[in-house]
Parts: sequence; C-alpha cells; structure tokens
Amino acid sequence: MNKPTILVVEDDTPVRNLITTTLKTHEYKYLTAPKGSDAILLASSHNPDVVFLDLGLPDMDGVDIIRQIRSWSNMPIIVISARSEDEDKIQALDAGADDYLTKPFSVEELLARLRVTVRRLSLMNSDNGADSSVYTNGKLKIDYSAGCAFLDEEEMKLTPIEYKLLCLLAKNTGKVLTHTYITQNIWGRSWDNDIASLRVFMVTLRKKLEAIPGSPQYIQTHIGIGYRMVKAEP
Ligand code: CA
Repeated sequence: MNKPTILVVEDDTPVRNLITTTLKTHEYKYLTAPKGSDAILLASSHNPDVVFLDLGLPDMDGVDIIRQIRSWSNMPIIVISARSEDEDKIQALDAGADDYLTKPFSVEELLARLRVTVRRLSLMNSDNGADSSVYTNGKLKIDYSAGCAFLDEEEMKLTPIEYKLLCLLAKNTGKVLTHTYITQNIWGRSWDNDIASLRVFMVTLRKKLEAIPGSPQYIQTHIGIGYRMVKAEP
C-alpha cells in the first residue's frame, strides 16, 4: 500500500509536534486534531488509515471516541496514555483500540507500533487476510477448516482450549487482546478464575509453540493488560 495517512489526536502541543515531526521525517502523511470533536469530524471526512489517539482530551473521553469511530469503521486506533492509566488502556482496547503507546514514548517506539499496525492493515486488505482458511506466520501454520495447527510442518498436539486460544490470537495478529476479551471469547465470561486459567493455558501453549518460551517469538505478554500475536521474524 502507499504511505498511509495518520490522524494524530493530541491536545498536548509538544507531544503532537513530536509525533508529526517523526511522521514527516518518515514521509507519512498526517492530519492533526487537538480535540475529540475535531477527531470525529476528521476521521469521518478523511478516512485516515491509522489514528493515534490521546485518551486525555479536553472535550471528550477517548474511549467514547473509539466507540464512535468503531460504529462505522475498523480503522486501526493506537491509544496514547500515561503509564498510570492501565485501566484506561484496557477500557480502550476493549472498546476496539488496536494497540497503545505509553507516555513518555520514544520515536523508535512510535515508529515500531506504526509499522506493526500498517503491516496488519495490509494483511487485512490482502487475500491472505483474516478470512483465509489457512494462516501462516513464520513456522506456524493453522488450517482453520481442518481445525489443526502445524509448527515446522509437524502437527501440534493442542488441547481444544489451546487451539481456540491460538486461533483467536492468530486472527487478531498485531492487535493487543485484553485478558477480558480473551476469556470472554474462550469461556464466554470473565471471572478472576478465568484470567488465572488463561495464564496457565498460555504457559502450556507457549511450551508447544515457542522455541524458547522465556523469549517468545509469536505471542507477546502485555503485563496487566493481555497478549498479542506478532509476525515472527523470518
Ligand atoms: Ca492529553
């Protein structure tokens, strides 16, 4: 795809300038909105490819902006918030945000998140996207119609829950899924016990999936928030 257009929603001028300068240096196109109302307007009128959204805006709650955008669009939304606001990040992810950046962040982090999101976007737009019946990522292959997964051409011996978990993460590659989102999808509820079980299943899944479970290649842990499947380096 062509260089995507990014909508930067941030009321803090120095942070906004840091983001736009970085985008400009890397030849991304961008639009800026210092307020939530401008963000909604620009998101609907210009249909940007990616949104960077500060959660603490003067006129609107960032989570409400996500809900509004999600009512008509799947455009990737990367939330920006302070470290102390984990609860807000979780709410934002559950409302449909794709990823988050924690303030203060480095230019490298910003660009890395953007690259992951753009890759996910082109994956979604290509024929090998979420609707394809075979998923491949590095040495991992999932045949959704046959209901089995392979690692390095060898069938993985997964329990039904592990398989469900792997598919859920794979179908959302590049996106951070919260504990609540995952347990709702796997067990249809989200009790404290389910989140504890999720951790256990994640350990057993990683043992089967990752060459070095302590340094995972496929599934990232976001402490206190959730998990994300990433594209494995070739
Ligand atoms: Ca702010």
